[in-house]
Amino acid sequence: MNTRHSRQSFLGDNSEEVLTRSKIGIVGLCGGGSHVGQQLAHIGIGQFVAADFDHVDEPNLNRMVGSCPADAELKRPKNDVIRDLILRINPNADVEIVGRWQESGDLLRTCDIVIGCVDSFTARDELEKFCRRFLIPYIDIGMDVHQVSNGYVISGQVALSMPGGHCLWCHGILTEERLAQEQRIYGAAGGKPQVIWPNGVLASIAVGHAVSLLLPWNTDLPLPSLIEYDGNRHITRPGARLQFLKGMPCPHYKGEGSVGDPFFSISKLSS
Ligand SMILES: [Zn+2]
Repeated sequence: MNTRHSRQSFLGDNSEEVLTRSKIGIVGLCGGGSHVGQQLAHIGIGQFVAADFDHVDEPNLNRMVGSCPADAELKRPKNDVIRDLILRINPNADVEIVGRWQESGDLLRTCDIVIGCVDSFTARDELEKFCRRFLIPYIDIGMDVHQVSNGYVISGQVALSMPGGHCLWCHGILTEERLAQEQRIYGAAGGKPQVIWPNGVLASIAVGHAVSLLLPWNTDLPLPSLIEYDGNRHITRPGARLQFLKGMPCPHYKGEGSVGDPFFSISKLSS
């Protein structure tokens, strides 16, 4: 084993080789995705598909790991900044960058795992549908800051959506009401409140899930996995809905939606 990774040899005898050969898709490269890219590069993931269609702006600098004022001034594409970040850490990595992931489905479907760090519920729904059709484990992170009568509440979650297992609908992350509300306020939502540390916590848990899926070191990863985060008390705990899912099959992905389809096209989602 390369001395660079000698302190993580407990992950498994061939862990370095497995990580080098693994390809991970990161969709959304700002608050959450930048942390994910940075950690995966350190741990030794060799192949990346990094997707984001946006550029860096000044309000991103409070949380986008690897970004700096010059990036905002130049309005550099976020995917470009994250590729640089990954390559600075691991110059041997292969990083393919794309804008809208929907236009690069052929590339994203070659990933072993996809990690979604997107803002919208519609995007989560589409990403999960895509991953299910190609039997790719999908890890989703999300956080929110809510105003309440006596201040602010930070909450978030990490969900693992495995082929054949419970989905984001089962986990209560996707609901018809949330999707409908998002449609109503589309274009008028503005920038939601975001800070760096909750994104760091959630991204770290997502990376832990990904490494647990790739390597044999952890036999305690619960499936289904839904971790909820209380950003005011700084605690994480198993999602409350898990108790209702025990022994219940996912009713949302069945029939042809539950099996692989090499001819699936993302354009079918909107038809
Ligand atoms: Zn489901």
